[in-house]
Amino acid sequence: MGLLDGKNALIFGLANKHSIAWGITQVFHEQGARIGVSYAIPELEKRVVPLAEEVNADLIEMADVTDDDAIDHVFERAEEVFGTIDILVHSVAFAGRDELSGRYVDTSRDGFNRSLEISVYSLVALARRAEKLMPEGGAILTMTYYGSVAVMPHYNVMGVAKAALESSVRYLAYDLGEKNIRVNAVSAGPIKTLSASGVSGFRKLLNKHGEVAPLGKLVSQEDVGRAAAWLCSDWAGSVTGEILYVDAGYNILGMTVPREELS
Ligand code: NAP
Repeated sequence: MGLLDGKNALIFGLANKHSIAWGITQVFHEQGARIGVSYAIPELEKRVVPLAEEVNADLIEMADVTDDDAIDHVFERAEEVFGTIDILVHSVAFAGRDELSGRYVDTSRDGFNRSLEISVYSLVALARRAEKLMPEGGAILTMTYYGSVAVMPHYNVMGVAKAALESSVRYLAYDLGEKNIRVNAVSAGPIKTLSASGVSGFRKLLNKHGEVAPLGKLVSQEDVGRAAAWLCSDWAGSVTGEILYVDAGYNILGMTVPREELS
């Protein structure tokens, strides 16, 4: 018996085997879900297709989330293949390298708009289409980071985007609640992925997290995948509008001092 037996899941944001979306996809597959995946650009096809085949994906479609026609095409294909869907995963974010170093105050207008469009508005655009394919209700999940709440050096415009994303989760949860569609986010601790590597000094941030987090470790793609599976399962049937921290407890700290330095 899998937690997601009989459910159809459409997952956006698979780039390669390091992607958080891949951790989620693997656990969803293990837990019995049928899988559809979407990736951003043609260059990713050679990495995404073999991964999608590993989990017997029924749908593999490319869509830049800034392109309404491309998104429409993915949902039309999802309707053809699955009829209805039960789960939508949004694991998509973007900020230019220039915006992920230096000071937030130097963020360009274009950089700000592009980051917010891809990282935040895309959730709204996908949720609106998913609603039509979830006549009996469903679960929508996005990925966020603690840089939304507190300053993480160089995270800059992404922190602002994640704050807007988390607020969007609450507004979408309100709007879609009457259709029995739940909307939640997982706030993951840092994981070494292509996107994360774009944040200047990310490696140091990663090391520090493992040193000071209450559980004394980093989180894995699988940790995030398991939490995501629970949130998207019927076991979380009364949970909506929430930001679930999967960060080895880092977010509860008031001061980030390694234990050894205190003894
Ligand atoms: P990732 O593997 O690079 O995934 C990010 C995905 O977003 C990629 O597939 C990327 O495609 C896609 N994307 C960017 N622009 C797009 C567009 N215009 N249209 C469609 N897709 C687009 O990195 P990840 O770390 O797994 O990121 C997944 C999510 O987790 C993001 O929301 C990220 O902010 C969040 N998160 C990550 C961490 C972490 O430490 N890694 C922690 C907390 C939250 P391209 O490769 O083509 O750009």
